[in-house]
Amino acid sequence: MNTKRSKELFEKSLEKIPGGVNSPVRAFRSVGRTPLFIHHAAGSRITDVDGNTFIDYVCSWGPGILGHAHPQVIRAVQEACSRGLTYGAPTENELILAEMICEAMPSVEKVRLVSSGTEAVMSAIRTARGYTGRDYIIKFKGNYHGHSDGLLVKAGSAALTTAVPDSSGVPASYTENTLVALYNDKESVQELMEKYGEKVAAIIVEPVAANMGVVLPENGFLKFLREITKEYGALLIFDEVITGFRLGYGGAQEYFGIHPDMTTMGKIVGGGMPMAAYGGRKEIMDMVSPVGPVYQAGTLSGNPIATTAGIETLKILKAHPEYYREIDEKAAKIAAALEKRGEITGIPVTVNRVGSLLCAFFTDRHVGDYDSATSSDLQAYAAYFGHMLEGGIYVAPSQYEAMFVSAAHSDEDIERTCQVILER
Ligand SMILES: *Cc1c(COP(=O)(O)O)cnc(C)c1O
Repeated sequence: MNTKRSKELFEKSLEKIPGGVNSPVRAFRSVGRTPLFIHHAAGSRITDVDGNTFIDYVCSWGPGILGHAHPQVIRAVQEACSRGLTYGAPTENELILAEMICEAMPSVEKVRLVSSGTEAVMSAIRTARGYTGRDYIIKFKGNYHGHSDGLLVKAGSAALTTAVPDSSGVPASYTENTLVALYNDKESVQELMEKYGEKVAAIIVEPVAANMGVVLPENGFLKFLREITKEYGALLIFDEVITGFRLGYGGAQEYFGIHPDMTTMGKIVGGGMPMAAYGGRKEIMDMVSPVGPVYQAGTLSGNPIATTAGIETLKILKAHPEYYREIDEKAAKIAAALEKRGEITGIPVTVNRVGSLLCAFFTDRHVGDYDSATSSDLQAYAAYFGHMLEGGIYVAPSQYEAMFVSAAHSDEDIERTCQVILER
């Protein structure tokens, strides 16, 4: 595979952009390679600047549930562009999208549009604190909620203490109201709530953890979180930035039948444009300015181009409920092939999957939390990544990311993908 032009562009980018990239995982560091620079993409295919074409399972890290450059979305965006990119004044689009979101997720009665998942989560937490008048939040080890200061934490050294920063540049005082529990471990939550419960504004969780590979909620874990937050008067926030409109049109909350107090969305809801949202029960969302005392604003929030991409994407998903069954079936075929690869190569593999989200861990352990997820053999992942790339299949350049199947993946794409997976 010729990657000369990508290499040249990367060398030059290193001089002007930290690490050559605008988001760290793009740098291919954890698979020991240099990134491909992309020139264009359409449907299930992505093509780099050297003319190599791949079947893409990164799908821009989640937004691309319809594949790339869906003609209906592109046409609508082009038409919207011709009417101006941003006005800083209300538009009908914002209302249409808000109505679509509230209809898809009935637990969301009111919603605010923002420009990134990070911003959505940061704002939801501020709102939860304003509403409850409490400062603490609980998050789970290995769950990712964007890069705002208070969420870039790792667990403290002693159990049942507050978290410590997991990034340089975050003052310890910014994370002292963040508590860290273990995913799928009810006891760890119970203990924190017994100690801090009256001061906890919210528990925030990825209903399916998809930023430590893919880890499913087990043994009534989400139901337990619903109950214990109610018991202590704390809010339950589902971070559905990945799962929203992916596990089904109604997201993880519909899929698992658990209704959070607040929800954050991103990725698919923006249809490939920088847009995200946070919402929840009316009385909670009415804490947000200009009605309430919780300040939150954004120059480009709900801009006409991003809302157009989001609306068209949701319209297509709503009109095609069969897409969800189809991407589930396609992902199941890939999962089966990955398991078979383990048998063929003798390298242990554990495949986690829910709907169109899946991930192969190179370990013989059951993967149900951060510690088991990080037991995966990263060199085996890097070898698998290289094997797939050489075979024309673009998967995440990191063990700790999901593989995303889209409606644009054809049966032939899936067949070809399974074939490459099964090659030695
Ligand atoms: C991607 C992601 C975010 C952050 O979204 P950005 O748009 O990258 O800021 C937050 N939460 C979850 C669950 C995500 O997957």
